[in-house]
Amino acid sequence: MTFYITDSAVFIYGYDGDTSQFITVPAVRNEMKSQEAAMRFEIACETGTRVEQPDPDIRKKVVSLSKETRDVEELSDTDIDILAKAYEYKDDSILLTDDYAVQNVASVLGIKFQPIAQKKIKDVLVWGKKCTACRRKFDKGDECPVCGSPLKKVRRRKL
Ligand SMILES: [Zn+2]
Repeated sequence: MTFYITDSAVFIYGYDGDTSQFITVPAVRNEMKSQEAAMRFEIACETGTRVEQPDPDIRKKVVSLSKETRDVEELSDTDIDILAKAYEYKDDSILLTDDYAVQNVASVLGIKFQPIAQKKIKDVLVWGKKCTACRRKFDKGDECPVCGSPLKKVRRRKL
């Protein structure tokens, strides 16, 4: 049986699927801001969706890997929980997420994923910084060391 690891957006926007095949993490519950989303989440739980804590060791692995791809700044604690859970069920699951940073880390971890609404990214990306004035590229920082202008975050293709 294939499981679907579901991030918050699945419950916020709704997803047509068998809720008994859904697995999510407790932190997702806190992201249900609207009454509709909260209700969708509760109904999913009552109809078989499993809510499981992520494994702390797997979580650590996800964090260190997302530092390498520089996605870590983009990931919420909930995203990391979701990724850890998806990794745990890597062989039997598909991660449902529209979040590009989550998709990026998922592809590095070899997790299969499907977008809920958006198209999925084609390549593994690495984040970098680019000066808004002189356009020089850097790995990190907020200010251009050459001309002093602010740096903007840009996606850099890795593979
Ligand atoms: Zn510059």
